Amino acid sequence: MEAKHDVLIVGAGCAGMRAAIEAHDAGADVAIISKIHPVRSHSGAAEGGINAALGNASDDDPEKHAYDTVKGSDYLGDQDAIQVLCDEAPGDVYELENWGAVFSRTEDGRIAQRPFGAAGEPRTAYAADITGHVLIQVLYEQLVKRDILVYEEYFAWRLVVDDDRCQGVISWDLVNGGLHAIGAKTVILATGGAGRLYAGTTNAYACTGDGMTMALQAGVALKDMEMMQFHPTTLSPSGVLITEGCRGEGAYLLNADGERFLKRYAPNAMELASRDVISRAEQTEIDEGRGVDGSVLLDLRHLGAERILERLHGTRELSMTFALVDPIHDPIPVRPGSHYHMGGVDTDVWGLTSLEGLYAAGEVACVSVHGANRLGGNALMETITYGKRSGRHAAEWALSNTTVTVPPSAVSDAERDLRTLLDRTDGERPWRIRDELATTMHENFGVFRRESQMQQQGEIVAGLRERYERVLVEDKGNVFNTDLTQALELGFLLDLADCMVVCGLARKESRGAHARPYDYPDRDDENFLRHTLVTWNGEGPVLDWRPVTMTKWQPQVRSY
Ligand SMILES: Cc1cc2nc3c(=O)[nH]c(=O)nc-3n(C[C@H](O)[C@H](O)[C@H](O)COP(=O)(O)OP(=O)(O)OC[C@H]3O[C@@H](n4cnc5c(N)ncnc54)[C@H](O)[C@@H]3O)c2cc1C
Repeated sequence: MEAKHDVLIVGAGCAGMRAAIEAHDAGADVAIISKIHPVRSHSGAAEGGINAALGNASDDDPEKHAYDTVKGSDYLGDQDAIQVLCDEAPGDVYELENWGAVFSRTEDGRIAQRPFGAAGEPRTAYAADITGHVLIQVLYEQLVKRDILVYEEYFAWRLVVDDDRCQGVISWDLVNGGLHAIGAKTVILATGGAGRLYAGTTNAYACTGDGMTMALQAGVALKDMEMMQFHPTTLSPSGVLITEGCRGEGAYLLNADGERFLKRYAPNAMELASRDVISRAEQTEIDEGRGVDGSVLLDLRHLGAERILERLHGTRELSMTFALVDPIHDPIPVRPGSHYHMGGVDTDVWGLTSLEGLYAAGEVACVSVHGANRLGGNALMETITYGKRSGRHAAEWALSNTTVTVPPSAVSDAERDLRTLLDRTDGERPWRIRDELATTMHENFGVFRRESQMQQQGEIVAGLRERYERVLVEDKGNVFNTDLTQALELGFLLDLADCMVVCGLARKESRGAHARPYDYPDRDDENFLRHTLVTWNGEGPVLDWRPVTMTKWQPQVRSY
């Protein structure tokens, strides 16, 4: 074993960095592993804002925030976890502000808050439309200030499990090559989402669900994996996100006839209905021939140049660069794209998994605060609040335990498997399998889901997994071997796709992001007010169920 720490965090986005700061401040020796530089983490792409009931724009409070989140989750969110998030959010946001986060301001100098989809109050604090960028810089400053060690450009591949405890991580040094075992009393997974499972996505190339599969392969369950959120406004054709902040500021969605079609789907909330509702409405318009080249139009023109330039300047730049449209003068072509995985590693409200010593926080985790549908602004808040909580708990556990063991076999097994992959001289290139996976997931496991298509997708994934057994890494070198890491990422994605299809087929109802309008159009609380859980038996996913934690909110019909 080459190094050991009290707390080792895999991932340096908002969740990983917030966890590291907290664990360090609790007195632990902390290190972070990240496959990309921390400030390039995908959190930096977050645009619209972060939700906390500060009450700066209305008479808001954490109870209202919790209710909106429970309802938005289509009642699949665990209400104890949601309450924790909403109660702690205001303090956690002020802490970010005290560290230097430059939030946009009200006239009298308080943190400004804008309306977001399915929120009963204007609750989303923001820094223009670059909120994630601002947060990631502030958190990175705090890392540097504390001199926290970052294993930069290290690719975590496997968890070390010994004596029924997670005791470290096996990783590949991207700069110099070579496998390294880093021991730790506790490990926190903060590896983000898996949007790259889909062809059209807002997620960066790095979002390949690595931590979810690492946990799965270490015997930990994944929860609600069928729940992949489609964001209604992704730029056509690139998939770049156009923030919900546009609709928060008053933008309209139009079909080919210039109609604000949401009046037929969500007559009260209109463009501020929840994402699942708007994505389905858009897809229906497109499928029924009222789209414009496979898209609908997001119209900002009536907001006026001054407001667009002040509050949505990043959106304007993205539209001009990637769609050649200036939203001051023309509507933006948008369509639903995969955006956020509500499912993930099953944890408790401290980020702890069923494996002693292993935690998860941020998008990789499913605690679950988002249930079947995440509200915009709640993901960044989750990274901060649950990053902090997992950092605290992991540090306290580590400081009260002494030993770290990385058995030599953990390293030699990994080396042998890697050698087998690198020694192969004939086979199929990873990108072919990856492209086929992403295209077919989009077609068969997208906004609307049909039994026959999901079954077909199960067979496709099985076939791709077989082909993956003979995958060829052409680059045999040590330095920045992205051919190798893409092959490893593909292995992660394939396992996750398998889990998603199994869970999707089992959930015979429509709830949140899981829409089955052709066979099970309604939510079925009697049979499915419960989480799917999957574990891995060496060959494939094994399905189980867990009741939703309810505290005070009984399921109601959602209407917008
Ligand atoms: C375009 C976009 C806009 C968004 N806007 C908002 C918004 O306005 N408000 C909101 O609440 N939410 C928003 N979201 C969602 C939210 O930003 C994300 O869910 C959240 O930032 C994820 O943070 P994270 O820390 O969990 O993961 P990430 O920020 O994705 O970080 C993952 C980290 O894990 C590391 N990593 C991954 N795999 C490995 C590996 N194998 N080895 C080593 N390191 C690894 C990466 O290097 C990275 O450092 C948005 C999402 C997108 C895609």
